[in-house]
Amino acid sequence: MKIKNTLFIIGATALIMSCATNPFTGKQTLAIVPNSQIFPMAFQQYDQFLGENKVITGTSEAQMITRVGQKIAKASERWLNANGYTGYLDGYQWEYNLVKDDAVNAWCMPGGKIVFYTGILPIAKTEAGIAAVMGHEVAHALANHGQQRMSAGQLQQVAGAATSVAIQNRSESTQQIIGTAFGLGTQFGVMLPFSRSHETEADKIGLQLMAIAGYNPDEAADLWRRMKANSGGQSPPEFMSTHPSSDTRIANLTAWAPGAKAEARKFGVTNFK
Ligand SMILES: [Zn+2]
Repeated sequence: MKIKNTLFIIGATALIMSCATNPFTGKQTLAIVPNSQIFPMAFQQYDQFLGENKVITGTSEAQMITRVGQKIAKASERWLNANGYTGYLDGYQWEYNLVKDDAVNAWCMPGGKIVFYTGILPIAKTEAGIAAVMGHEVAHALANHGQQRMSAGQLQQVAGAATSVAIQNRSESTQQIIGTAFGLGTQFGVMLPFSRSHETEADKIGLQLMAIAGYNPDEAADLWRRMKANSGGQSPPEFMSTHPSSDTRIANLTAWAPGAKAEARKFGVTNFK
């Protein structure tokens, strides 16, 4: 009986887990629920979020978010193609929206669905600052960090929802799991922090993406200095509470900036703004 149970668990696990290589680190990671199943759920959740919040369009700030997003997406594609990962972005439907909300936050859901809150704009301050945040968030999505921060139990629930015929019928709690795992944390009042190693990975990948997109990677450390200064009050900004800042992070970004510029030069990018 025990063996039978064990076999069942192994079988069930094999159904929802498979290995994938993270193109940015070369490390094997668990691709627990395939993108082909995650993306439709993420897209639906994203549209629902946009429907329930005030999306700003037509302003110069909204246009800047779109412009930076497109450049970072293009940089991702160039980097992946150059490194033998052609087709990695298949199924992505990039979208960039600015939402009126004082929260100091931004996120990217699976499949390239990005939201910036107006509250982060004064801290991002410049287009390069936006690019630093965008690069970091896109890096989390490209590396599938969201999937990896779900617990095993949550994964099974999401896998169950993914394989069910009608996505609309999935339970409220599954929606919450997907939302919190992939960025909509504040909406559900639950924040699932990324691990320190995921943060470091996203910082490093994001820095390269912003450089290939033509933005000065030196600006990333400055962004985090502003984040740190902004958190001097009683309540730290949300972006920071899920993205623990530290002098180490600023030191890392400073140390990695020349490498990011060197990477960008491989793509013919020599001027950084
Ligand atoms: Zn992060």
